[in-house]
Amino acid sequence: MSDSVHDVIIIGGGIAGLFCALKLSPRPVTVLTAAPIGQGASSAWAQGGIAAAVAEGDTTEAHARDTIAAGAGLVDEALARAMTREAPDRVRDLLAYGVPFDKTLEGHLAVGREAAHSARRIVHVQGDVAGRAIMDALGAAVRSTPSIRLIEGYLAEDLVIDGARVVGVLARAGSGRKPATLHGRAVVLATGGIGHLYAVTTNPPEASGIGLAIAARAGAMLADTEFVQFHPTAIAAGLDPAPLASEALRGEGAILVNGAGERFMQNIHRDGDLAPRDVVARGVFAEIAAGRGAFLDARTAIGKDFPARFPTVYASCMAAGIDPVRALIPVAPAAHYHMGGVSTDARGRTSLEGLWAAGEVASTGVHGANRLASNSLLEAVVFATRVAEDISGTSSQAATPQRASSDTTGSGLDAASPSVRDLRTIMSRHVGVIRSGDGLAVALDKISRIEHAAQSPSLRNMATAALLVAAAAFARRESRGAHERSDHPKTDPALARRAFLTLAEARTIAAEAIHTTHASMPAE
Ligand SMILES: Cc1cc2nc3c(=O)[nH]c(=O)nc-3n(C[C@H](O)[C@H](O)[C@H](O)COP(=O)(O)OP(=O)(O)OC[C@H]3O[C@@H](n4cnc5c(N)ncnc54)[C@H](O)[C@@H]3O)c2cc1C
Repeated sequence: MSDSVHDVIIIGGGIAGLFCALKLSPRPVTVLTAAPIGQGASSAWAQGGIAAAVAEGDTTEAHARDTIAAGAGLVDEALARAMTREAPDRVRDLLAYGVPFDKTLEGHLAVGREAAHSARRIVHVQGDVAGRAIMDALGAAVRSTPSIRLIEGYLAEDLVIDGARVVGVLARAGSGRKPATLHGRAVVLATGGIGHLYAVTTNPPEASGIGLAIAARAGAMLADTEFVQFHPTAIAAGLDPAPLASEALRGEGAILVNGAGERFMQNIHRDGDLAPRDVVARGVFAEIAAGRGAFLDARTAIGKDFPARFPTVYASCMAAGIDPVRALIPVAPAAHYHMGGVSTDARGRTSLEGLWAAGEVASTGVHGANRLASNSLLEAVVFATRVAEDISGTSSQAATPQRASSDTTGSGLDAASPSVRDLRTIMSRHVGVIRSGDGLAVALDKISRIEHAAQSPSLRNMATAALLVAAAAFARRESRGAHERSDHPKTDPALARRAFLTLAEARTIAAEAIHTTHASMPAE
Protein backbone atom coordinates (compact mmCIF):
# COMPACT_ATOMS: atom_id res chain seq x y z
CA MET A 1 0.00 0.00 0.00
CA SER A 2 1.61 3.29 -1.05
CA ASP A 3 0.73 6.72 0.29
CA SER A 4 -2.94 7.57 -0.09
CA VAL A 5 -5.51 10.27 0.60
CA HIS A 6 -8.67 9.55 2.60
CA ASP A 7 -11.56 11.46 4.10
CA VAL A 8 -12.07 10.05 7.62
CA ILE A 9 -9.48 7.57 8.90
CA ILE A 10 -10.42 5.41 11.89
CA ILE A 11 -7.49 3.60 13.51
CA GLY A 12 -8.87 0.46 15.16
CA GLY A 13 -11.61 -2.01 14.29
CA GLY A 14 -13.08 -2.88 17.67
CA ILE A 15 -16.56 -1.83 18.77
CA ALA A 16 -15.60 1.87 18.94
CA GLY A 17 -14.02 1.97 15.48
CA LEU A 18 -16.71 -0.04 13.70
CA PHE A 19 -19.64 1.72 15.40
CA CYS A 20 -18.14 5.11 14.52
CA ALA A 21 -17.62 4.02 10.89
CA LEU A 22 -21.26 2.87 10.64
CA LYS A 23 -22.55 6.07 12.23
CA LEU A 24 -20.52 8.13 9.73
CA SER A 25 -21.96 6.28 6.74
CA PRO A 26 -22.57 7.21 3.92
CA ARG A 27 -19.54 9.45 4.38
CA PRO A 28 -16.36 7.74 3.11
CA VAL A 29 -14.44 6.17 5.96
CA THR A 30 -11.25 4.13 6.00
CA VAL A 31 -10.85 1.75 8.93
CA LEU A 32 -7.23 0.74 9.55
CA THR A 33 -6.68 -2.20 11.89
CA ALA A 34 -3.70 -4.13 13.17
CA ALA A 35 -5.59 -7.43 12.93
CA PRO A 36 -8.44 -8.64 10.71
CA ILE A 37 -11.85 -7.41 11.89
CA GLY A 38 -13.13 -9.59 14.72
CA GLN A 39 -9.61 -10.52 15.83
CA GLY A 40 -7.05 -8.66 17.94
CA ALA A 41 -9.76 -6.63 19.68
CA SER A 42 -10.90 -6.80 23.30
CA SER A 43 -14.42 -6.14 22.03
CA ALA A 44 -14.69 -9.66 20.63
CA TRP A 45 -13.80 -11.10 24.03
CA ALA A 46 -16.33 -9.19 26.13
CA GLN A 47 -18.38 -11.67 28.10
CA GLY A 48 -20.71 -9.90 30.48
CA GLY A 49 -22.38 -7.52 28.06
CA ILE A 50 -23.36 -3.89 27.92
CA ALA A 51 -24.88 -1.88 30.75
CA ALA A 52 -28.12 0.01 30.04
CA ALA A 53 -31.14 0.83 32.20
CA VAL A 54 -33.68 -0.94 30.01
CA ALA A 55 -35.42 -3.08 32.61
CA GLU A 56 -38.66 -2.14 34.32
CA GLY A 57 -37.95 -0.38 37.62
CA ASP A 58 -34.42 0.61 36.67
CA THR A 59 -33.55 4.21 35.77
CA THR A 60 -30.76 5.92 33.87
CA GLU A 61 -30.24 8.09 36.95
CA ALA A 62 -29.63 5.00 39.11
CA HIS A 63 -27.17 3.75 36.48
CA ALA A 64 -25.40 7.14 36.61
CA ARG A 65 -25.29 7.03 40.42
CA ASP A 66 -23.62 3.59 40.37
CA THR A 67 -21.14 4.81 37.71
CA ILE A 68 -20.26 7.87 39.80
CA ALA A 69 -19.90 5.82 43.01
CA ALA A 70 -17.56 3.31 41.31
CA GLY A 71 -15.36 6.12 39.98
CA ALA A 72 -14.21 7.10 43.51
CA GLY A 73 -14.63 10.87 43.25
CA LEU A 74 -13.18 11.45 39.79
CA VAL A 75 -16.14 10.85 37.47
CA ASP A 76 -17.30 13.67 35.20
CA GLU A 77 -20.85 13.48 36.50
CA ALA A 78 -22.55 15.39 33.68
CA LEU A 79 -20.98 13.11 31.07
CA ALA A 80 -21.78 9.97 33.08
CA ARG A 81 -25.45 11.08 33.19
CA ALA A 82 -25.41 11.78 29.46
CA MET A 83 -23.87 8.34 28.78
CA THR A 84 -26.42 6.44 30.85
CA ARG A 85 -29.28 8.46 29.28
CA GLU A 86 -28.08 7.56 25.77
CA ALA A 87 -27.49 3.89 26.68
CA PRO A 88 -30.97 2.52 25.75
CA ASP A 89 -30.80 4.19 22.32
CA ARG A 90 -27.38 2.72 21.62
CA VAL A 91 -28.62 -0.76 22.62
CA ARG A 92 -31.49 -0.26 20.16
CA ASP A 93 -28.89 0.67 17.49
CA LEU A 94 -27.03 -2.56 18.21
CA LEU A 95 -30.27 -4.52 17.89
CA ALA A 96 -30.86 -2.82 14.55
CA TYR A 97 -27.35 -3.84 13.40
CA GLY A 98 -28.41 -7.41 14.17
CA VAL A 99 -26.97 -8.14 17.63
CA PRO A 100 -29.08 -11.02 19.03
CA PHE A 101 -29.35 -9.84 22.64
CA ASP A 102 -31.03 -12.39 24.93
CA LYS A 103 -34.74 -11.80 25.48
CA THR A 104 -37.26 -12.96 28.06
CA LEU A 105 -40.24 -15.16 27.17
CA GLU A 106 -42.31 -11.95 26.95
CA GLY A 107 -39.86 -10.57 24.37
CA HIS A 108 -38.20 -7.96 26.59
CA LEU A 109 -34.42 -7.63 26.76
CA ALA A 110 -33.10 -10.02 29.43
CA VAL A 111 -30.79 -8.28 31.91
CA GLY A 112 -28.11 -9.69 34.20
CA ARG A 113 -26.49 -8.31 37.33
CA GLU A 114 -22.80 -7.48 37.80
CA ALA A 115 -20.72 -6.17 40.67
CA ALA A 116 -21.52 -2.70 42.05
CA HIS A 117 -24.65 -2.29 39.90
CA SER A 118 -27.71 -1.59 42.05
CA ALA A 119 -30.00 -3.28 39.51
CA ARG A 120 -29.99 -6.02 36.90
CA ARG A 121 -29.02 -4.03 33.79
CA ILE A 122 -26.45 -5.97 31.77
CA VAL A 123 -27.78 -6.79 28.32
CA HIS A 124 -26.11 -10.01 27.15
CA VAL A 125 -26.01 -12.65 24.41
CA GLN A 126 -26.29 -16.39 25.10
CA GLY A 127 -24.99 -15.82 28.60
CA ASP A 128 -21.40 -14.79 27.99
CA VAL A 129 -20.75 -14.26 24.27
CA ALA A 130 -21.89 -10.63 23.94
CA GLY A 131 -18.57 -9.35 22.56
CA ARG A 132 -18.32 -12.00 19.86
CA ALA A 133 -21.96 -11.49 18.83
CA ILE A 134 -21.59 -7.70 18.72
CA MET A 135 -18.41 -7.91 16.64
CA ASP A 136 -19.97 -10.44 14.25
CA ALA A 137 -22.97 -8.17 13.69
CA LEU A 138 -20.93 -4.96 13.35
CA GLY A 139 -18.36 -6.69 11.14
CA ALA A 140 -21.10 -7.89 8.80
CA ALA A 141 -22.74 -4.45 8.76
CA VAL A 142 -19.42 -2.76 7.98
CA ARG A 143 -18.55 -5.20 5.21
CA SER A 144 -21.90 -4.54 3.54
CA THR A 145 -21.57 -0.74 3.78
CA PRO A 146 -20.01 0.54 0.52
CA SER A 147 -18.73 3.79 2.05
CA ILE A 148 -16.48 1.92 4.50
CA ARG A 149 -13.08 0.72 3.33
CA LEU A 150 -11.15 -1.73 5.49
CA ILE A 151 -7.37 -1.89 5.61
CA GLU A 152 -6.58 -4.89 7.78
CA GLY A 153 -3.18 -5.98 9.02
CA TYR A 154 -1.58 -2.53 9.29
CA LEU A 155 -0.13 -1.27 12.54
CA ALA A 156 -0.27 2.51 13.02
CA GLU A 157 3.05 3.66 14.43
CA ASP A 158 2.88 7.45 14.25
CA LEU A 159 0.47 10.27 13.55
CA VAL A 160 1.26 12.71 10.76
CA ILE A 161 1.23 16.31 11.93
CA ASP A 162 1.00 19.56 10.02
CA GLY A 163 1.71 22.36 12.49
CA ALA A 164 -0.61 21.59 15.39
CA ARG A 165 -3.07 19.58 13.30
CA VAL A 166 -3.24 15.83 12.84
CA VAL A 167 -3.47 15.13 9.11
CA GLY A 168 -2.85 11.42 8.84
CA VAL A 169 -1.20 8.28 10.08
CA LEU A 170 1.92 6.29 9.35
CA ALA A 171 1.23 2.54 9.27
CA ARG A 172 3.09 -0.63 8.41
CA ALA A 173 2.10 -4.21 7.54
CA GLY A 174 4.55 -6.29 9.53
CA SER A 175 8.06 -5.48 10.64
CA GLY A 176 10.55 -5.15 7.82
CA ARG A 177 7.90 -3.66 5.50
CA LYS A 178 8.03 -0.03 4.35
CA PRO A 179 5.58 2.25 6.18
CA ALA A 180 2.73 3.84 4.24
CA THR A 181 1.26 7.28 4.90
CA LEU A 182 -2.51 7.73 4.94
CA HIS A 183 -3.61 11.36 4.79
CA GLY A 184 -7.07 12.21 6.12
CA ARG A 185 -9.26 15.19 6.99
CA ALA A 186 -10.23 13.64 10.27
CA VAL A 187 -8.43 10.92 12.22
CA VAL A 188 -10.21 8.88 14.91
CA LEU A 189 -8.17 6.86 17.37
CA ALA A 190 -9.99 3.70 18.43
CA THR A 191 -7.03 1.47 19.25
CA GLY A 192 -8.31 0.03 22.54
CA GLY A 193 -6.43 -0.47 25.78
CA ILE A 194 -3.03 -1.20 27.27
CA GLY A 195 -3.44 -4.60 28.97
CA HIS A 196 -0.59 -6.16 27.05
CA LEU A 197 1.87 -3.83 28.72
CA TYR A 198 1.43 -6.24 31.66
CA ALA A 199 2.69 -9.81 32.01
CA VAL A 200 -0.71 -11.03 33.21
CA THR A 201 -3.62 -9.64 31.21
CA THR A 202 -6.97 -10.55 29.76
CA ASN A 203 -6.34 -8.37 26.67
CA PRO A 204 -5.15 -9.41 23.20
CA PRO A 205 -1.56 -8.49 22.12
CA GLU A 206 -2.90 -5.60 20.02
CA ALA A 207 -3.94 -3.85 23.27
CA SER A 208 -0.42 -2.61 23.83
CA GLY A 209 -0.96 1.11 24.24
CA ILE A 210 0.30 2.17 20.82
CA GLY A 211 -2.61 4.55 20.25
CA LEU A 212 -1.89 6.24 23.55
CA ALA A 213 1.80 6.58 22.69
CA ILE A 214 1.37 8.01 19.20
CA ALA A 215 -1.20 10.56 20.39
CA ALA A 216 1.10 11.55 23.25
CA ARG A 217 4.09 11.94 20.96
CA ALA A 218 2.01 14.16 18.69
CA GLY A 219 1.42 16.39 21.74
CA ALA A 220 -2.08 15.30 22.81
CA MET A 221 -3.21 15.81 26.40
CA LEU A 222 -3.76 12.58 28.31
CA ALA A 223 -5.89 11.98 31.38
CA ASP A 224 -6.04 9.57 34.31
CA THR A 225 -3.35 7.27 32.85
CA GLU A 226 -2.49 5.88 36.31
CA PHE A 227 -5.88 4.17 36.57
CA VAL A 228 -5.67 0.59 35.33
CA GLN A 229 -8.37 -1.85 36.31
CA PHE A 230 -7.26 -5.35 37.23
CA HIS A 231 -9.89 -8.00 36.71
CA PRO A 232 -10.00 -9.96 39.95
CA THR A 233 -10.80 -13.33 38.44
CA ALA A 234 -8.68 -14.22 35.43
CA ILE A 235 -8.31 -18.00 35.21
CA ALA A 236 -4.84 -18.72 36.63
CA ALA A 237 -3.72 -21.51 34.30
CA GLY A 238 -0.52 -19.95 32.91
CA LEU A 239 -2.02 -18.80 29.59
CA ASP A 240 -1.18 -15.48 27.85
CA PRO A 241 -3.58 -13.74 27.56
CA ALA A 242 -5.27 -15.14 30.65
CA PRO A 243 -8.88 -16.27 30.03
CA LEU A 244 -11.52 -14.55 32.06
CA ALA A 245 -13.94 -15.95 34.59
CA SER A 246 -16.64 -13.32 34.05
CA GLU A 247 -17.90 -11.22 36.91
CA ALA A 248 -21.38 -12.42 35.96
CA LEU A 249 -20.50 -15.73 37.63
CA ARG A 250 -20.40 -13.96 41.00
CA GLY A 251 -23.52 -12.07 39.97
CA GLU A 252 -25.20 -15.47 39.68
CA GLY A 253 -23.96 -16.59 43.10
CA ALA A 254 -20.49 -18.11 42.57
CA ILE A 255 -18.26 -17.37 45.59
CA LEU A 256 -14.59 -16.63 46.18
CA VAL A 257 -12.71 -18.90 48.56
CA ASN A 258 -9.05 -19.42 49.45
CA GLY A 259 -7.17 -22.72 49.39
CA ALA A 260 -8.58 -23.60 52.81
CA GLY A 261 -12.10 -23.21 51.45
CA GLU A 262 -12.71 -20.01 53.46
CA ARG A 263 -14.64 -17.10 52.02
CA PHE A 264 -12.51 -13.95 52.34
CA MET A 265 -14.41 -11.07 50.76
CA GLN A 266 -17.01 -10.78 53.56
CA ASN A 267 -14.33 -9.52 55.95
CA ILE A 268 -13.12 -6.94 53.46
CA HIS A 269 -16.25 -5.24 52.08
CA ARG A 270 -19.95 -5.14 52.96
CA ASP A 271 -20.85 -6.28 49.43
CA GLY A 272 -18.59 -9.31 49.84
CA ASP A 273 -17.99 -11.09 46.54
CA LEU A 274 -19.88 -8.33 44.69
CA ALA A 275 -17.68 -5.52 46.00
CA PRO A 276 -16.15 -3.12 43.44
CA ARG A 277 -13.55 -4.68 41.18
CA ASP A 278 -10.51 -2.99 42.70
CA VAL A 279 -11.48 -4.19 46.18
CA VAL A 280 -11.99 -7.76 44.98
CA ALA A 281 -8.73 -7.63 42.97
CA ARG A 282 -6.81 -6.60 46.09
CA GLY A 283 -8.58 -9.28 48.14
CA VAL A 284 -7.61 -11.97 45.62
CA PHE A 285 -4.08 -10.52 45.34
CA ALA A 286 -3.67 -10.65 49.13
CA GLU A 287 -4.76 -14.30 49.37
CA ILE A 288 -2.30 -15.26 46.61
CA ALA A 289 0.50 -13.15 48.17
CA ALA A 290 -0.15 -14.88 51.51
CA GLY A 291 0.27 -18.26 49.82
CA ARG A 292 -3.34 -19.35 50.35
CA GLY A 293 -4.39 -19.06 46.71
CA ALA A 294 -7.77 -17.81 45.45
CA PHE A 295 -10.53 -19.79 43.77
CA LEU A 296 -13.98 -19.26 42.33
CA ASP A 297 -16.52 -21.82 43.49
CA ALA A 298 -19.46 -22.07 41.09
CA ARG A 299 -20.37 -25.65 42.02
CA THR A 300 -23.46 -24.89 44.08
CA ALA A 301 -24.75 -21.65 42.52
CA ILE A 302 -24.36 -22.64 38.87
CA GLY A 303 -23.32 -26.31 38.90
CA LYS A 304 -24.50 -28.40 35.97
CA ASP A 305 -25.96 -25.34 34.18
CA PHE A 306 -22.42 -23.97 33.74
CA PRO A 307 -21.82 -25.17 30.13
CA ALA A 308 -25.11 -23.72 28.89
CA ARG A 309 -25.08 -20.48 30.86
CA PHE A 310 -21.38 -19.59 30.55
CA PRO A 311 -20.12 -21.41 27.46
CA THR A 312 -17.01 -19.23 26.98
CA VAL A 313 -15.77 -19.55 30.55
CA TYR A 314 -16.65 -23.24 30.51
CA ALA A 315 -14.57 -23.80 27.35
CA SER A 316 -11.61 -21.85 28.83
CA CYS A 317 -11.76 -23.88 32.04
CA MET A 318 -12.01 -27.20 30.22
CA ALA A 319 -9.08 -26.23 27.95
CA ALA A 320 -7.05 -25.68 31.12
CA GLY A 321 -8.15 -29.05 32.53
CA ILE A 322 -10.60 -27.62 35.07
CA ASP A 323 -14.23 -28.77 35.13
CA PRO A 324 -16.05 -25.88 36.84
CA VAL A 325 -19.17 -27.99 37.42
CA ARG A 326 -17.21 -30.09 39.92
CA ALA A 327 -13.98 -28.24 40.70
CA LEU A 328 -12.81 -24.87 42.02
CA ILE A 329 -11.47 -22.44 39.39
CA PRO A 330 -8.03 -20.98 40.34
CA VAL A 331 -8.09 -17.20 39.78
CA ALA A 332 -5.68 -14.23 39.84
CA PRO A 333 -5.95 -10.49 39.09
CA ALA A 334 -5.00 -9.51 35.51
CA ALA A 335 -4.63 -6.13 33.75
CA HIS A 336 -8.02 -5.71 32.15
CA TYR A 337 -9.12 -2.17 31.38
CA HIS A 338 -7.57 1.30 31.15
CA MET A 339 -9.73 4.05 32.61
CA GLY A 340 -7.18 6.64 31.48
CA GLY A 341 -6.24 7.51 27.94
CA VAL A 342 -6.24 10.33 25.44
CA SER A 343 -8.24 13.14 26.99
CA THR A 344 -11.43 13.91 25.07
CA ASP A 345 -14.29 16.35 25.49
CA ALA A 346 -18.02 15.61 25.30
CA ARG A 347 -17.80 15.38 21.50
CA GLY A 348 -14.83 13.02 21.52
CA ARG A 349 -12.37 15.72 20.42
CA THR A 350 -8.81 15.43 21.68
CA SER A 351 -6.64 18.46 22.42
CA LEU A 352 -5.21 18.20 18.88
CA GLU A 353 -7.14 19.59 15.94
CA GLY A 354 -8.04 16.85 13.47
CA LEU A 355 -7.84 14.05 16.07
CA TRP A 356 -10.78 12.41 17.82
CA ALA A 357 -10.71 9.38 20.12
CA ALA A 358 -13.31 6.82 21.23
CA GLY A 359 -13.43 3.57 23.15
CA GLU A 360 -10.84 2.38 25.60
CA VAL A 361 -8.01 4.53 24.21
CA ALA A 362 -9.98 7.65 25.14
CA SER A 363 -10.42 9.13 28.57
CA THR A 364 -13.81 10.84 28.62
CA GLY A 365 -13.99 11.02 32.41
CA VAL A 366 -17.03 8.75 32.77
CA HIS A 367 -15.07 6.01 34.57
CA GLY A 368 -13.06 8.16 36.99
CA ALA A 369 -10.70 6.06 39.08
CA ASN A 370 -12.57 2.81 38.46
CA ARG A 371 -14.88 1.53 35.75
CA LEU A 372 -18.21 0.01 36.59
CA ALA A 373 -18.53 -3.43 34.98
CA SER A 374 -20.00 -3.41 31.44
CA ASN A 375 -19.76 0.36 31.13
CA SER A 376 -16.88 0.17 28.65
CA LEU A 377 -18.76 -1.23 25.68
CA LEU A 378 -21.38 1.36 26.52
CA GLU A 379 -18.88 4.22 26.64
CA ALA A 380 -17.46 3.02 23.31
CA VAL A 381 -20.80 3.15 21.47
CA VAL A 382 -22.02 6.36 23.12
CA PHE A 383 -18.84 8.31 22.35
CA ALA A 384 -18.24 6.71 18.93
CA THR A 385 -21.67 8.10 18.05
CA ARG A 386 -20.75 11.53 19.40
CA VAL A 387 -17.47 11.50 17.46
CA ALA A 388 -19.32 10.61 14.26
CA GLU A 389 -21.86 13.39 14.86
CA ASP A 390 -19.11 15.90 15.53
CA ILE A 391 -17.09 14.95 12.46
CA SER A 392 -20.24 15.04 10.32
CA GLY A 393 -21.08 18.48 11.64
CA THR A 394 -17.69 20.12 11.49
CA SER A 395 -15.35 18.65 8.94
CA SER A 396 -16.14 19.05 5.29
CA GLN A 397 -15.98 16.04 3.08
CA ALA A 398 -12.91 15.32 0.95
CA ALA A 399 -12.78 13.81 -2.50
CA THR A 400 -13.53 10.09 -2.70
CA PRO A 401 -10.59 8.31 -1.09
CA GLN A 402 -8.18 6.33 -3.21
CA ARG A 403 -8.62 2.60 -3.02
CA ALA A 404 -6.12 0.94 -0.72
CA SER A 405 -5.55 -2.78 -0.83
CA SER A 406 -6.32 -5.03 2.12
CA ASP A 407 -3.42 -6.91 3.62
CA THR A 408 -3.34 -9.42 6.44
CA THR A 409 0.35 -10.24 6.55
CA GLY A 410 0.89 -9.43 10.21
CA SER A 411 0.73 -6.53 12.58
CA GLY A 412 4.43 -5.93 13.20
CA LEU A 413 3.95 -6.38 16.94
CA ASP A 414 7.03 -8.05 18.38
CA ALA A 415 5.16 -9.49 21.36
CA ALA A 416 7.64 -12.29 22.01
CA SER A 417 10.86 -10.21 22.06
CA PRO A 418 12.91 -10.29 25.30
CA SER A 419 12.57 -6.50 25.73
CA VAL A 420 8.78 -6.75 25.48
CA ARG A 421 8.83 -9.53 28.08
CA ASP A 422 11.02 -7.38 30.36
CA LEU A 423 8.72 -4.41 29.94
CA ARG A 424 5.65 -6.48 30.79
CA THR A 425 7.33 -7.99 33.84
CA ILE A 426 8.34 -4.55 35.11
CA MET A 427 4.79 -3.27 34.67
CA SER A 428 3.24 -6.21 36.53
CA ARG A 429 5.80 -6.06 39.33
CA HIS A 430 5.93 -2.31 39.95
CA VAL A 431 2.92 -0.69 38.25
CA GLY A 432 0.34 -3.38 39.08
CA VAL A 433 -2.36 -4.06 41.67
CA ILE A 434 -0.32 -2.51 44.51
CA ARG A 435 2.31 0.17 43.81
CA SER A 436 4.89 2.13 45.80
CA GLY A 437 6.94 5.26 45.11
CA ASP A 438 10.20 3.31 45.19
CA GLY A 439 8.90 0.57 42.90
CA LEU A 440 7.49 3.11 40.45
CA ALA A 441 10.81 4.98 40.34
CA VAL A 442 12.59 1.69 39.55
CA ALA A 443 9.99 1.01 36.84
CA LEU A 444 10.40 4.50 35.33
CA ASP A 445 14.16 4.04 35.17
CA LYS A 446 13.92 0.65 33.45
CA ILE A 447 11.11 1.71 31.11
CA SER A 448 13.06 4.83 30.05
CA ARG A 449 16.07 2.67 29.19
CA ILE A 450 13.94 0.27 27.14
CA GLU A 451 12.31 3.19 25.33
CA HIS A 452 15.70 4.77 24.61
CA ALA A 453 17.23 1.52 23.30
CA ALA A 454 14.14 0.38 21.34
CA GLN A 455 14.93 -0.60 17.76
CA SER A 456 11.36 -1.28 16.64
CA PRO A 457 8.57 1.32 16.54
CA SER A 458 6.17 -1.02 18.35
CA LEU A 459 8.54 -1.58 21.31
CA ARG A 460 9.25 2.14 21.50
CA ASN A 461 5.52 2.89 21.48
CA MET A 462 4.84 0.27 24.16
CA ALA A 463 7.58 1.73 26.35
CA THR A 464 6.22 5.26 25.85
CA ALA A 465 2.74 4.07 26.89
CA ALA A 466 4.20 2.29 29.93
CA LEU A 467 6.03 5.47 30.90
CA LEU A 468 2.78 7.44 30.76
CA VAL A 469 1.09 5.01 33.15
CA ALA A 470 4.01 4.73 35.58
CA ALA A 471 4.70 8.49 35.69
CA ALA A 472 1.09 9.32 36.52
CA ALA A 473 1.05 6.54 39.13
CA PHE A 474 4.22 7.98 40.68
CA ALA A 475 2.71 11.47 40.76
CA ARG A 476 -0.56 10.41 42.45
CA ARG A 477 0.52 10.08 46.06
CA GLU A 478 -2.67 8.56 47.45
CA SER A 479 -4.80 5.43 46.99
CA ARG A 480 -8.01 5.90 45.06
CA GLY A 481 -10.16 3.52 43.04
CA ALA A 482 -7.96 1.15 41.09
CA HIS A 483 -4.76 3.00 42.06
CA GLU A 484 -3.36 1.57 45.31
CA ARG A 485 -0.14 2.98 46.77
CA SER A 486 1.29 0.98 49.69
CA ASP A 487 3.24 4.10 50.75
CA HIS A 488 0.14 6.33 50.55
CA PRO A 489 -2.67 3.94 51.57
CA LYS A 490 -5.29 6.64 52.27
CA THR A 491 -7.45 8.59 49.87
CA ASP A 492 -6.51 12.27 50.00
CA PRO A 493 -9.59 14.52 49.58
CA ALA A 494 -7.30 17.26 48.25
CA LEU A 495 -6.43 15.01 45.29
CA ALA A 496 -10.03 14.36 44.24
CA ARG A 497 -9.40 15.68 40.75
CA ARG A 498 -8.54 14.11 37.42
CA ALA A 499 -4.89 14.20 36.41
CA PHE A 500 -4.04 15.60 32.99
CA LEU A 501 -0.55 15.26 31.59
CA THR A 502 1.46 15.48 28.39
CA LEU A 503 4.33 13.23 27.37
CA ALA A 504 6.77 16.06 28.15
CA GLU A 505 5.34 16.30 31.69
CA ALA A 506 5.54 12.52 32.12
CA ARG A 507 9.22 12.65 31.13
CA THR A 508 9.85 15.36 33.71
CA ILE A 509 8.15 13.25 36.42
CA ALA A 510 10.23 10.23 35.35
CA ALA A 511 13.49 12.21 35.42
CA GLU A 512 12.75 13.51 38.93
CA ALA A 513 11.76 10.04 40.20
CA ILE A 514 14.89 8.46 38.76
CA HIS A 515 17.09 11.26 40.11
CA THR A 516 15.62 10.94 43.63
CA THR A 517 16.08 7.16 43.61
CA HIS A 518 19.69 7.38 42.46
CA ALA A 519 20.44 10.16 44.99
CA SER A 520 19.06 8.02 47.85
CA MET A 521 21.10 4.93 46.85
CA PRO A 522 24.23 4.32 48.95
CA ALA A 523 27.46 5.26 47.11
CA GLU A 524 29.46 2.24 45.93
C1 LIG B 1 -11.80 -10.61 28.24
C2 LIG B 1 -12.51 -9.29 28.29
C3 LIG B 1 -13.84 -9.22 28.68
C4 LIG B 1 -14.50 -8.00 28.72
N1 LIG B 1 -15.84 -7.97 29.05
C5 LIG B 1 -16.50 -6.78 28.98
C6 LIG B 1 -17.90 -6.73 29.17
O1 LIG B 1 -18.55 -7.75 29.40
N2 LIG B 1 -18.52 -5.53 29.10
C7 LIG B 1 -17.83 -4.37 28.84
O2 LIG B 1 -18.44 -3.30 28.78
N3 LIG B 1 -16.50 -4.40 28.62
C8 LIG B 1 -15.83 -5.57 28.67
N4 LIG B 1 -14.49 -5.59 28.43
C9 LIG B 1 -13.83 -4.35 28.03
C10 LIG B 1 -14.22 -4.03 26.59
O3 LIG B 1 -14.24 -5.22 25.84
C11 LIG B 1 -13.24 -3.06 25.95
O4 LIG B 1 -13.02 -1.95 26.77
C12 LIG B 1 -13.81 -2.56 24.62
O5 LIG B 1 -14.16 -3.66 23.83
C13 LIG B 1 -12.80 -1.70 23.92
O6 LIG B 1 -13.27 -1.46 22.63
P1 LIG B 1 -12.36 -0.64 21.64
O7 LIG B 1 -13.07 -0.60 20.35
O8 LIG B 1 -11.96 0.63 22.27
O9 LIG B 1 -11.00 -1.50 21.54
P2 LIG B 1 -10.75 -2.96 20.96
O10 LIG B 1 -11.98 -3.74 20.86
O11 LIG B 1 -9.62 -3.54 21.73
O12 LIG B 1 -10.28 -2.68 19.48
C14 LIG B 1 -9.06 -2.02 19.22
C15 LIG B 1 -8.77 -2.11 17.74
O13 LIG B 1 -7.61 -1.35 17.44
C16 LIG B 1 -6.69 -2.15 16.72
N5 LIG B 1 -5.36 -1.60 17.00
C17 LIG B 1 -4.71 -1.51 18.18
N6 LIG B 1 -3.54 -0.87 18.01
C18 LIG B 1 -3.48 -0.54 16.69
C19 LIG B 1 -2.53 0.13 15.90
N7 LIG B 1 -1.39 0.64 16.42
N8 LIG B 1 -2.76 0.27 14.57
C20 LIG B 1 -3.89 -0.23 14.00
N9 LIG B 1 -4.85 -0.86 14.73
C21 LIG B 1 -4.63 -1.01 16.04
C22 LIG B 1 -6.95 -3.56 17.19
O14 LIG B 1 -6.45 -4.53 16.30
C23 LIG B 1 -8.47 -3.52 17.25
O15 LIG B 1 -9.01 -3.66 15.96
C24 LIG B 1 -13.81 -6.81 28.40
C25 LIG B 1 -12.46 -6.87 28.00
C26 LIG B 1 -11.82 -8.11 27.94
C27 LIG B 1 -10.39 -8.14 27.50
